[in-house]
Amino acid sequence: MKVKAAIHRATNHPLSIEEVDIASPGPEEVLVKTIACGVCHSDLHALNGAIPSNLPAILGHEPAGIVIEIGDRVRNVAPGDHVIACTSMYCGNCSQCIQGRPYLCIDRGACLRGEDEPPRVTQNGKIIHQFADLGGFAEAMLVHNRAVVKIDKDIPFDRAALVGCAVTTGVGAALNTAKVTPGSSVVVFGAGGVGISVIQGAKIAGARQIIAVDILDDKLKIAEKFGATETINSNKQDPVKTIKKMTSGGAEFAFEVVGMQKLLQQAFYCLAPHGTAILVGAIPVGESVSVNAGHFFLEKRIIGCMMGSNRFTLDTPRYLELYRQGKLDLDSMVTRHEPLEKVSDAFDAITSGEVTRTVLMFDQ
Ligand SMILES: [Zn+2]
Ligand SMILES: [Zn+2]
Repeated sequence: MKVKAAIHRATNHPLSIEEVDIASPGPEEVLVKTIACGVCHSDLHALNGAIPSNLPAILGHEPAGIVIEIGDRVRNVAPGDHVIACTSMYCGNCSQCIQGRPYLCIDRGACLRGEDEPPRVTQNGKIIHQFADLGGFAEAMLVHNRAVVKIDKDIPFDRAALVGCAVTTGVGAALNTAKVTPGSSVVVFGAGGVGISVIQGAKIAGARQIIAVDILDDKLKIAEKFGATETINSNKQDPVKTIKKMTSGGAEFAFEVVGMQKLLQQAFYCLAPHGTAILVGAIPVGESVSVNAGHFFLEKRIIGCMMGSNRFTLDTPRYLELYRQGKLDLDSMVTRHEPLEKVSDAFDAITSGEVTRTVLMFDQ
């Protein structure tokens, strides 16, 4: 089928809206009509080259939509089902999958078409890559069935889309990766879409203190609405000193959600003994971070986090139930809707820090 898509052709060049051809589903594939797709910071990182990707590519990795067609061997969804697509697709057979960590799957290639097969997406016979193996900035997506999860039809698509990346990453970082404990003190560096999700996850986990750190007062105000108990503008106050004071000696959990060396150092230094710093943000590939090793005597830890350590087919229905119960606020996270053609405006909004989430909407 022919669909419109926003294509990334060169680093730092605006995406161009072009027509592409999407193939029919192979035996294990699912064709999804995209209804909504959030615009995430990682799309911007791909655009400016901080995340390397094969070009040309359709960006977008936070989509929700309706299944149009399925391959012969697909059992988890059927045409007409509403679904969220997630980049954490998994082979189901590798050592990481078998140990219950499908988000660290080491054989994603098993869910892709081989080099000897025709590509899923083409233009004039030439391959168009799908960023994150999804390519959500398009009117339809052809993906592996283990990249989608069925959702109930009462969930609005724009809300559902956020669960595909920001919510899964942020709430999962708090609940799955860090396992935030009830009554604990938590710091979150960065109050964008993922940071807000970490704050919500910490609140769901029962943290007593949630300190949001950012450089924009507007974002800090939003963070309070989602559950931050205190805020720090790190342009105005030294975050480490202020956090030590607020927490009477240090935080138990500190999340870095921006992807900056300095912030990971601050997250480490603001910890109480035995505290854990969790790196959620994408520090550019190749950069390293140094910390004063003496702090390790205090059993402080730094741990990585991949997409909120998700098992998205389990997590998604749980998060959506928390949404129904009013414990997870997806409504306030969606701050703007735009058509596909306005995707560049959505990137500008991320850069200026004015929105929590823009969601691109397609005709239903
Ligand atoms: Zn993302
Ligand atoms: Zn695997």
